[in-house]
Amino acid sequence: MFDPDRFITDRLRAIDASGIRRVFDLAANLEDPINLSIGQPHFDVPEPVKAVAAQAIADGFNRYTQTQGIAQLRDAIVQRVAREFPHTLGGDGGLHGDLDCLITSGVSGGLLLTLLTAVGPGDEVLIPDPYFVMYRHLVTLAGATPVYVDTYPDFLPTPERIEPLITPRTKVLIFNSPSNPTGVVAPADVCRGVAELAGQHNLLLLSDEIYDEFCYVKSGDPPRCPSPASFTRNLLLMRGFSKTYAMTGWRLGYVVGPAPIVHEMTKLQQYSFVCAPSMVQVAGTAALGVEMDEQVAAYAKKRDRVIDKLAPHFDITAPGGAFYAFPQVPDRLGVTATQFVERAIEHNVLIIPGSVFSERDTHFRLSYACDDDTLERGLDVLVSLARR
Ligand code: PLP
Repeated sequence: MFDPDRFITDRLRAIDASGIRRVFDLAANLEDPINLSIGQPHFDVPEPVKAVAAQAIADGFNRYTQTQGIAQLRDAIVQRVAREFPHTLGGDGGLHGDLDCLITSGVSGGLLLTLLTAVGPGDEVLIPDPYFVMYRHLVTLAGATPVYVDTYPDFLPTPERIEPLITPRTKVLIFNSPSNPTGVVAPADVCRGVAELAGQHNLLLLSDEIYDEFCYVKSGDPPRCPSPASFTRNLLLMRGFSKTYAMTGWRLGYVVGPAPIVHEMTKLQQYSFVCAPSMVQVAGTAALGVEMDEQVAAYAKKRDRVIDKLAPHFDITAPGGAFYAFPQVPDRLGVTATQFVERAIEHNVLIIPGSVFSERDTHFRLSYACDDDTLERGLDVLVSLARR
């Protein structure tokens, strides 16, 4: 008799998706929920970018590209990164010779390639907690062990918090700023400290900067979000197009890092994703020239609104970027975050319990990537639940 169970490996069984599924199962019964759970911008892809993608399709740009990505996009990214990090990554008009760039199928694609390339059984990967859920599962898939760095209550992955957890088995340190789920932006001194720590312990630093444009405290010239890439070149810098240009379904990202690692990742991409979608690469090149300041400013205002409204009722670390906040459920309610989220769902508001992103179940993630009216209604419900 055919037994499908026989074809599911322990590798996959080790991945547990029940936390988030439970929330979505509860939400499935809601008719028109006030949805504050969405991990993507509520605006659409800029029109000029859509037009370039449509034209590329019409022009027959529909075939495989080179695995590492089309030259025009790679060049544009290299110029941008070299300009932003002239002291570490930038060389003569491009990247330093020992660095390379790979166009990936989203940052997710880059994360999978990195972890399969860099770690395996017996290796440990440091993950600041709370974390983007994919990290934990991809580390497990690669056969390595996730080690969580507790960053409560301010959510800063400081060297002081990380260093005690480093062992001879530690190989990779994941750094994500602006952060999903907390929205916290690590200041330059934390970025520097983490870069130095990785150097001292010979760790590969993986800097996931997918929310880099959604940073409300940019500084420098050109203005930028603080990044460990300002302080070291021994890192894999990962950025994408999903959030900045609302291209989540288009699957485009990039990695810049030490050439020997990037070349192995390229080899793996050749035998897995093959390449990032061709017409999207063309459109991505155009996207890099589109200003998103207006959208980012609108999100900064929504962020302010979230703080104004929730701070009197919840402990909330002011988020400096991304489009999330991560408030703590008031102790006085005597409930876990999961229970609080269930209550919110009973009142038609969809948020995500912290336990999905963390070893703790005390906070919840709220996404303000929605229109102002939805946000206002959702915040009203959360405040009324906190007041009970
Ligand atoms: N990294 C972080 C921190 C994210 O929040 C996400 C998406 O939510 C990703 C990576 C993956 O983005 P994509 O694969 O769409 O580029």
